Amino acid sequence: MIYLDNNATTTIDPRVADVIAEVFRSGPCNASSQHAVGRAARLRIDDAIDTIASCLDSPLDQPGGPRLIFTSGGTESNNLALSGLADPAAPIVLSRIEHPSVIAVAEHLATQGREIRWLDVDGEGVAKVETLAELIQSGTQPAGLVSLMSANNETGVIQPIDEAARICRQRGTLLHVDATQSIGKVPLSLSQLGASAVTMSAHKFHGPPGIGALWLDGGVPLRPLLHGGEQQLESRPGTEPVALICGMALALQLATAGLHETQSLLSSLRDRLEQGLRSRHADLVVHGCSSAAANQPAPPRLPNTTCLSFPGADRQSMLMALDFAGIALSSGSACSSGSSPPSHVLLAMGKSAALVQSALRLGVSKFSTVEEIDDAIDRISLCYKRLGKKNDVEN
Ligand code: PMP
Repeated sequence: MIYLDNNATTTIDPRVADVIAEVFRSGPCNASSQHAVGRAARLRIDDAIDTIASCLDSPLDQPGGPRLIFTSGGTESNNLALSGLADPAAPIVLSRIEHPSVIAVAEHLATQGREIRWLDVDGEGVAKVETLAELIQSGTQPAGLVSLMSANNETGVIQPIDEAARICRQRGTLLHVDATQSIGKVPLSLSQLGASAVTMSAHKFHGPPGIGALWLDGGVPLRPLLHGGEQQLESRPGTEPVALICGMALALQLATAGLHETQSLLSSLRDRLEQGLRSRHADLVVHGCSSAAANQPAPPRLPNTTCLSFPGADRQSMLMALDFAGIALSSGSACSSGSSPPSHVLLAMGKSAALVQSALRLGVSKFSTVEEIDDAIDRISLCYKRLGKKNDVEN
């Protein structure tokens, strides 16, 4: 199977799997226990936090400074941020291309009377931050929280977080950044980002599924989602999964060491895939890759991701045929299993129903090879020739 669904999840790095196994085999691991065994577990967590702090350039050991709350992953971190940050009566601003784990929480909060204001994106999938200041101020009450992802999970388009942070800072509005897709693929300094809270998830950077974190800037208060224990200063009670935390820290260390080389490897593989397919099928559309406004450079994208429409083909039929042909990827919509609604991201970008209906997302990883990419180009091309309309360039 050629795995090109690395935005949905990645293969665990064998070194990470080894560390997790080693911690699990080492004996009981409850970091809240008062005895030597518990203290050893606590030390492991402290070491993991030190590693994460240095990988993401944020001190995490100073009283009153930034802190990390371990969660079960990106979905929980996003739920925690949206529900627990800012005055519960203050409106929330979020972009139309956020992950469902942000949008669904906001919509849930809206059923309880919370006002949601939507930040539009342009045709390339970039949030229109030039409208953000007005959105924050509009209505009777200023927004208390803005949620903007650092890179979109479908198109890979990187969002203007610096500008959003500047606007939020000026207005005293908290900024939550869902960095689930960008951590481990592009450099990120939490000290420089200007965010109040940042979501991360280990299985997107060759760590284990089931562990992630919400980073909070110093002094940012948070209401917990869960109650019933004193762990993590009651921000997220429950016995910490020490083995997964150690795995996440090592995965992050491996992902951030040599990141520049990884970025070039990923973009060379992604570009090879994109160009290989485009050279055979002139009608393919790459989303987030060309600027609608002439003379505007294309927005930056994650180095591993491409979102392609195969005009005339149906994405579900393509997915099934590709699965049969030994290629694992997903449609342009969120990485939810089973049903696959049309991509809210491409719709927000103003793409036609035909382009949305034929969109697939492909993501390479550091474990992808040139041979796999060339093989994937052949197999995808063959499927499109069978399932798409007959306007491809013969090769
Ligand atoms: N945010 C983004 C941008 C994502 O891509 C994902 C995973 N698809 C999530 C949040 C949810 O992360 P997790 O799978 O760890 O719950």
